[in-house]
Parts: sequence; structure tokens; C-alpha cells
Amino acid sequence: MISIAIDGPSGAGKSTIARAVASRRGFLYIDTGALYRAVGLYALRSGVEPKDEAPVIALLEKIKLSLRHDAEGKQHVLLCGEDVSEDIRSSEVSLAASAVAAIPAVREFLLECQRSLAREHDVVMDGRDIGTFILPKAQIKIFLTASSADRARRRFDELRARGEDITYEQVLADVEARDTQDEQRAVMPLRPAPDAVTVDTTGNTLEESIRLLDVLIGNKLRQL
Ligand code: C5P
Repeated sequence: MISIAIDGPSGAGKSTIARAVASRRGFLYIDTGALYRAVGLYALRSGVEPKDEAPVIALLEKIKLSLRHDAEGKQHVLLCGEDVSEDIRSSEVSLAASAVAAIPAVREFLLECQRSLAREHDVVMDGRDIGTFILPKAQIKIFLTASSADRARRRFDELRARGEDITYEQVLADVEARDTQDEQRAVMPLRPAPDAVTVDTTGNTLEESIRLLDVLIGNKLRQL
């Protein structure tokens, strides 16, 4: 099986780019952030503060998560049987996901789910610690990044398209808060694997970034 790990901060275009390159190569696309988001959503729905370790840990045994892929290769997240793929995209859930992701027991809970997918399929897996921890033997590792202003702009456009009433300044503040939370947490802080290729997409259109990654992955696959 071949694994392509794509890590990086939120809003660098990871999911769109990873999904596109996966579909071109016939790989299964796995958005691991969706798993953390589903845990965050479950905490919010249960009235549990996502930062509070003990109550979040107590919820884990009730959480049943699975991923389903539709005919277009789009990933759906099922939380206790309910498709929550849309509900997990709000800005409230983004921050909750980042908070629960800092809890070691949550990361442990999601570990096997991610590894077993990579054992069974050729995958393009996007996340934060795929190349460093989840799939340290991934044949191709890419760290995708962009300036925080660029990432906030993309996220702002996405949220406005979903009808959220939010300003660019709020989105930028959220992106920076999440970066700090993700980079400074004690477990699996966001950082590139030593053998990852870093790609900065600042100023690129999505199409340009997809082409760039597709060429890079094509070259790497030929060397395997
Ligand atoms: O990628 P996405 O923005 O959907 O991820 C939501 C949150 O989940 C991130 O801010 C990060 O804290 C966490 N996450 C993680 N490890 C992953 C994927 C996501 O810690 N592999």
C-alpha cells in the first residue's frame, strides 16, 4: 500500500488539494481533521467544555465514529450513525476540535482508526501529525503551508459561502488562535516531519497548488 501524508496548518488548502490529487491517482482521501471535529462536536452537544480533559475522556466510550466515501470520493463522517459532515464545519466546532485534539487520550482514541485505513487502502491522508506520528513510514510526505492572512481569507470565503455571519478579522483571529493551540500543545505539536517536502501555497490559486502537488507526487511515485 502507498501512503501520502499531507500535513500543515488549517486553511492552507490541504483538504481541497489532497482530495484532488487523491482522485487523480485513484487513492482514498482521508481528512483526519474531520475525526477531531466530530469529537469536538460531540463534546459541544453533550454540554462538555472541549478543553476539560476528564469530562471529554469520559465521553469517548460513547463515541462511535466511522468514515464513508461516496461515489465522488467525498468523505462523510458518521458520528454514532448520524452523518455530521456539514455540522462539523462551523467555526465553533473548529475551535472545539483544536481543543480536544490537545488531549492525549483523544489522539490515542483516533490513532487506530487512521492507521487501519492506511493498511487497507492507498491513501492521501491530510492532518497535522500524519507524517510525524500516524504514518511515519508514509512513502511521500508533504507539509503544506501558507501565510495566516492567506489562510484566513480562504476560510472567510468558505464560511461566508456557508452563510456564517462573521468578519475577516474574526476569522484571522480564529486562525491564529488555532495555530497557536496546534503549534504549542504538548502532544504532537504541528511541525513538519524531517523527511517532508514543505510547499508554501501563499498567493497561489487552488488550481496552481493542485498542479504543483500533482507534479511533485508524480515525480516521487516514479522514484518508488
Ligand atoms: O484540518 P481541520 O482544520 O479540519 O482540523 C481541525 C482541528 O483538528 C485542527 O485545528 C487540529 O487541532 C486538529 N487535528 C489534529 N491532528 C490531525 C488533524 C486535525 O490535531 N491529524
